[in-house]
Amino acid sequence: MTQALLIQKVDEQYTCGVTDMPALPPLEASQVRVQVSHSTINFKDGLAITGRSPVVRKFPMVPGIDFVGTVVESQHPKWKAGDAVVLNGFGVGEGHWGGLAPVAQVSGDWLLALPAGISPQRAMAIGTAGYTAALCVQALLDHGVQSGDEVLVTGASGGVGSVAIALLARHGARVVASTGKLSEEAYLKHLGAAEVVDRAALSAPGKPLQKERWAGVVDSVGSHTLVNACASTRYGGIVAACGLAQGMDLPGSVAPFILRGVTLAGIDSVMAPLAKRERAWAMLEKDLSPELLDSMTRVVGLSGALEVASQILAGQIKGRVVVDVNQA
Ligand code: NDP
Repeated sequence: MTQALLIQKVDEQYTCGVTDMPALPPLEASQVRVQVSHSTINFKDGLAITGRSPVVRKFPMVPGIDFVGTVVESQHPKWKAGDAVVLNGFGVGEGHWGGLAPVAQVSGDWLLALPAGISPQRAMAIGTAGYTAALCVQALLDHGVQSGDEVLVTGASGGVGSVAIALLARHGARVVASTGKLSEEAYLKHLGAAEVVDRAALSAPGKPLQKERWAGVVDSVGSHTLVNACASTRYGGIVAACGLAQGMDLPGSVAPFILRGVTLAGIDSVMAPLAKRERAWAMLEKDLSPELLDSMTRVVGLSGALEVASQILAGQIKGRVVVDVNQA
């Protein structure tokens, strides 16, 4: 396979399509060349591929904010040919060529060893969405959320939400899944949700303090949903905020923070330090059931990725979509 997705911007005309893989320059010091087997479509990939938001900072650009593959050449002391590696973020697919291609060339400092218990396809079924879910769940557990506690997951049927439900249920939490797709109740309960609620109950403006309910929240939605989640988090609880599917605004009050000691924990996957990444991937290897992961995953080729990019922005994707970059 020698084809890649390529984003171009010529005379203000933004396009993305399948094309022959452009030649790469020789490796620089500390760089590693990776033969990519799989990438995935995350929300940010949807923004990049469609051009909906200016996430791409250089043209032409190979999109794909994450990938898994095998090192073929290395100028980095940590890596040698044959090593299985995974990459999430660090601006790949935005400012540096990304994973929706058969080969990637990146700084060796950005790579992690693929955990032995995770296959390449499953690593990208997890992808940046699943790794971000793990960062959120780590934040809740570190804060003291315990087995039996009630937790809320918003954007539940999406990539972050689906993996967060599975991990939190595995840790014994009573997970309440907020979704716009009530028809997916069986799917969400299969992942581990104890209760499914209509996201409409959270998405409109609400009171600054509401009935205390959640010991913890994983929010990938932002805007009024995040504000309402904070307002109904119980005394001393924690809200991990990682996304903006509803909006980037935060139209709320400080009441939950100054009157209930609620912690709002910001979660960033892109520049997270290696130690945090390794901890998150170790949790995914240990706690995420491969069968559950398979049940939330489908696989497409490079041309299928173009269609999925629009669907993810429309909130139409359930779970995770892996891209087999060796499939047209
Ligand atoms: P998905 O599209 O897979 O999931 C988002 C889900 O949010 C949808 O499936 C839908 O779930 C819900 N949703 C969509 N539109 C709306 C809306 N208008 N109002 C309320 N809910 C809505 O995306 P991901 O799970 O991959 O990513 C989720 C968010 O997290 C994105 O904003 C993404 O940019 C962000 N993110 C941030 C990262 C970081 O480093 N901070 C890393 C990865 C992702 P349902 O139908 O069940 O309600």
